[in-house]
This record gives sequence, C-alpha cells and structure tokens, in this order.
Amino acid sequence: MPVPALIPLYLVVVLLPLTLAWAQGLPSRPLVDDLASGAGFVAFAVILAEFFLIGRFRSVTRRAGSDVVMRAHQLLARTALVLVLVHPFLYVSPMTPPPVWDVTSQTALNYDWAGLWPGIIAWLLLGGLVAMAIARDVSGARYEHWRLLHGLGAVLVAAFGLLHVLRAGRYSADPLLGWVWIAFLALAVGSLLYVYLVAPLFRWRRPWRVTSVTPAAERTWTVTLNPDFEGRVEYKAGQFAWLNIGKGVFSLNENPFSISSAPSAGRDVEFIIKELGDFTNTIGQVRPGTRAWMDGPHGHLTHEGHDDAPGIALIAGGVGIAPLIGILRELAVTADPRPTALLYGNRTEAQIVCREELQNLAEAHGTEVIHVLSETKKGWTGDTGMIDATLLERHFGTKSRRNWLYILCGPPPMLTSVKATLIGLGVPASRILSEQFVYD
Ligand SMILES: Cc1cc2nc3c(=O)[nH]c(=O)nc-3n(C[C@H](O)[C@H](O)[C@H](O)COP(=O)(O)OP(=O)(O)OC[C@H]3O[C@@H](n4cnc5c(N)ncnc54)[C@H](O)[C@@H]3O)c2cc1C
Repeated sequence: MPVPALIPLYLVVVLLPLTLAWAQGLPSRPLVDDLASGAGFVAFAVILAEFFLIGRFRSVTRRAGSDVVMRAHQLLARTALVLVLVHPFLYVSPMTPPPVWDVTSQTALNYDWAGLWPGIIAWLLLGGLVAMAIARDVSGARYEHWRLLHGLGAVLVAAFGLLHVLRAGRYSADPLLGWVWIAFLALAVGSLLYVYLVAPLFRWRRPWRVTSVTPAAERTWTVTLNPDFEGRVEYKAGQFAWLNIGKGVFSLNENPFSISSAPSAGRDVEFIIKELGDFTNTIGQVRPGTRAWMDGPHGHLTHEGHDDAPGIALIAGGVGIAPLIGILRELAVTADPRPTALLYGNRTEAQIVCREELQNLAEAHGTEVIHVLSETKKGWTGDTGMIDATLLERHFGTKSRRNWLYILCGPPPMLTSVKATLIGLGVPASRILSEQFVYD
C-alpha cells in the first residue's frame, strides 16, 4: 500500500466512532454540544491511533519513513490535545439530571461524577504528556527514562479516557460504539505490548555479537556485528535498526542507527556511530564479543525499488553518510551500471568518514565523490562552504540529472534547503528520498 493510501485508511479509523455516533440518529441537541462530543470522539480516536505511530511498525515505516511517522505522531498528539482542551468548555446544555421523560439525554448533560473524574484525569494527563514531550531535550532527562514515562502516561490517558467515554458519553452508551472503543484500546495497548514484550521475545532467539569497534573518523566509530544464529537478517541498503548493545533483550536502552554495510556483502552488519550523548559517548569502549540485539530493519531510505532512475545522487551531511555509504557499497557489490555521485559535507577534514574507501569506490565504481568542508586548512583542494544552491546547481543542474534518484541524509535544515533547491532545479519530488536522525 503506497503512502497516499495510508492517509485515507487513517482517516477511516479515526472517524469511525464519530460516524457510528452520527448513525445512531439520536434526537438533536444544540449544535455546540454535538461539536463538543465530536471533538472528544476524534481526539480520543487520534490518541488511540497514536500507539501505532511510534515508528516501530515496518508496514508503516517502510512506506512513509520513521522520521515522517514520528513527526506525524507529534503533530497529531498536539491536534488531539487542542481538541481535548476545548472539549469540556464547548457544552452549553445544563449539567443537571435529565427529566425522566428524556431517555436520550438531549436536554441535559450527564454530570455523573463517576463519568467525570476519569475524564478530568485523562484531560490533565494528556496536557502533561504533550508538555513533557515538547520539553524533552531541555528537561535533561535520559531518553530511556523519558520514553518509559511517556509510554506509561499514554496508557493511563487511554485507560481513563475509555472510562470517561463509556460512563459519560451519550452516544457511547450504544453497545456497538462501546465495543468499538474497547477494541480500539485493546489494539492500542496490544501494539505497545507487542513492541516491548513480544517482539523482544522473538529477538531473544536471534542474538548478535560485536566483532569489532574501530575509529571511522573523529569521534565516530564503525561497529560490526555478527549474527550468533543460523541464517541472516534481510534488509535493504540504507535502512536502519534499533540497536541494543550489552543490555538485556527487554531493555529500553536501544537507539536507532542506520546500517552502513551492503546487504549483498555477507551476514555481518555494520554501523557508523557518532558520539553524541550518554550511550554513543561510550561506544568506543565496547569490547568485541559483547552481546547485542537488533530490531529491524526499518525505514524507506533505499535505492532499491527505483530501478527506473537513470542515475543516483547521494547527498550527506556529517554522520548522515552512514546509510548512504551502505547504498554506495551495495551499488558497488552488485556492479550497478548507473552513474552515481556523492556530495558529502562536513565541518572539518577529520570528520570525513571512511575517506579512503570512498576514494577507492570513486576509482573502482566510477562514483563521483565531492567533499565539501565548512572549515578548511591550508592545502584543501575540495569544495568549501556549505551544501547550498550554488553547489547543487553546479553538480546536479544539468538536464540529464533531473530524473536521477536523490537520496539525502543529514541535519534537518540542510535537508529542507537541499530539497527546495532540487525541486527548483526541476527534480520531481517523487525522486527525492530523505531521512533525518532527529525526530524533533
Ligand atoms: C532513523 C535514525 C537513524 C540514525 N542513524 C544514525 C547513524 O547511523 N549514526 C549515528 O551516529 N546516529 C544515528 N542516529 C542518531 C542516533 O540515534 C542518536 O545519536 C543516538 O540515539 C543518541 O543516543 P545517546 O544515548 O548517545 O544520546 P542522548 O543524549 O541520550 O540523546 C541525544 C538525542 O538523540 C536522540 N535519541 C536518543 N536516544 C534515542 C532513541 N532511543 N530513539 C530515538 N532517538 C533517540 C534524541 O533526539 C536525543 O535528544 C539515527 C537516528 C535515527 C532516528
């Protein structure tokens, strides 16, 4: 199913409870009351659907890319928060027990405390959850702790939300809608249990061992893993995996890293990891023989499936080279006859990863390798400055390169400006793939 088909599917799911409520044909109430209920319905369905948009389901990330899925997750959470915030304040009908003749509660709102308190708790918790997510980087909390709290908080919001909907809702008193809500919650919590309990159990039978950790550039390491089981892991060049090194299989201490080896080159899997925080700063101390676990492959950043592209351009900023080097290696191993070019930006020369290998690839496979540095020393003969419009136009501005496949990985501002420039040069958006390493 292509990406555009995922959007209607998503809409059908989150609008299903609203549609079922409308189909009940209950006597009408003031419009704003129904708007308030509608806002609550859509918000709660969006919240439950959020459990699937956590970047771990390959059927979704293969099509849209994990970074896009995670950004959708963040944006939709904020949308749900706005709807939830306004939901209780829109109602205008009196909060009194309805008269005995009003069996459908069209003249008054259910003010029963048993239905209200779970809603108030869910309302407060959701605000806290979104605020905590937005403030994650400034809070100084360890990512793993934050993730655990975020998951537990989300389950509580969902559970209290369900209690509120079932007890206070005029429309959710309908058994069919009530069961739909219960099924949605079961699927949501089930998906979390699958990711953090069931999937690790399967992984337990597929352990890996670290075979080497070697310097790749300044504060950047190449980590190679060998499967400690029969068979191999199938992946596409450029995809990424969640890596857990030296911890138990159920540990939340796992981080996403792009696979930089070529799938056709053998069973070993390689990563290029830059020191950035508490886990990556210790990567150079990992000893060969250490046990590791891998959840993957994930992601859509690959040249595979784009056989009609007449050429391939790879544009990397910093450690964004990791997936692109995997693609270059695969193109070389499979002797792909198409012309290839790599535009690789770094701050200093010492940060260039696998420089010698890139040189060899350039000679053996005919890849055009263009290095760009923003801080140069005397004797530097490559390009200087940033990967900007002038540079892109110089290297990719010809008509023959317009229909190439462009694969981008690097800091978000670089990706935004490179994409805009390429589109300005006439490259169709469908020919540009990109992935960023930060979800914010
Ligand atoms: C799809 C993808 C592919 C990546 N590929 C590479 C790669 O090939 N090489 C490389 O050096 N880096 C890569 N990264 C970035 C890498 O995941 C982070 O640098 C690393 O997780 C930092 O962890 P830390 O504990 O050292 O730092 P921390 O100080 O704990 O975290 C620093 C920042 O890294 C991010 N981060 C930390 N832990 C996680 C996590 N479990 N999940 C998601 N984000 C997290 C957060 O934005 C956090 O604010 C990739 C990231 C993504 C999303």
